[in-house]
Amino acid sequence: MPVILIVEDEKPIRDMFRFATLKTDFELIEAKDGKSLWQILDQHTPDLILMDWMLPDTNGIKLTKQLKAEEIYADIPIIMLTARVEEQDKITGLDAGADDYVVKPFSPLELVARIKAVLRRTKKETNNTELRIADLILDTASHQVSLQNHNIDLGPKEYRLLKYFMENPNRVFTRSQLMDRLWGRNTYVEERTVDVHIGRLRKVLAPYRYDKFIQTIRGTGYRLAEKSNANL
Ligand code: CA
Repeated sequence: MPVILIVEDEKPIRDMFRFATLKTDFELIEAKDGKSLWQILDQHTPDLILMDWMLPDTNGIKLTKQLKAEEIYADIPIIMLTARVEEQDKITGLDAGADDYVVKPFSPLELVARIKAVLRRTKKETNNTELRIADLILDTASHQVSLQNHNIDLGPKEYRLLKYFMENPNRVFTRSQLMDRLWGRNTYVEERTVDVHIGRLRKVLAPYRYDKFIQTIRGTGYRLAEKSNANL
């Protein structure tokens, strides 16, 4: 089920969009300003963001640029929502990294169609959604993780951590690199917080003895080894 995050300060527009998506298979998350956007992204990975231009604490162009500059969020497609109609505004939105542009007032049905089109377009680029290391499989489309055919429940941070490791097997990461990947550069966290999430990830993998794949590299950081007995 595609998760759509709408960033919009006007409640009537959020309500209208929620109503329009009732008969779709979208799961809707709402943010009313920039601050709540970052809080939500800390816990969820949306498949698409609807971004209002004018927000009380920031603007949609600035947020779009910030998201596109972050490795963890750069791939999330963004549709700009705006009351502005001038050609130059449209160009500014697309230059910031938006994938499409919808002018208010919009027809909810048209917006739903545009969302589906952008999701189709962006999904084509990632045919293979399955990452695999031995019997550990992570599906980036469904966000499902399985190990020896058992479904594994991971928190949002542990999921991101595992995905990043599986995308880059055997590569050693410093805590600071992992922090950028898990939280982005907009949030301040202490380095030992990375150790906490590594610990949780190992704990989930431990019943299958896959915790050994997550190796501590003394004085540097961590890596995911493709073989659990790989020597450093
Ligand atoms: Ca607004």
